[in-house]
Amino acid sequence: MRVKCVLCDKIESIEDETLVAKRLRNRPIHTYMCNECSERIEERTKERIATGNFKLYQSKQTEEDW
Ligand SMILES: [Zn+2]
Repeated sequence: MRVKCVLCDKIESIEDETLVAKRLRNRPIHTYMCNECSERIEERTKERIATGNFKLYQSKQTEEDW
């Protein structure tokens, strides 16, 4: 079946038998993400975790200001 990546609009064709294809048949087609974008999202999630750690550090500083 043919799927379109929701982020970069890249058209890909995937095997009907795969887990992704089965999932897409139950859900709207626009939930598909290509590997490239999935990796990019994964990196962003990691960055967000890093930012979270930084925020934790910042709030620690605020406490010291008290
Ligand atoms: Zn993509």
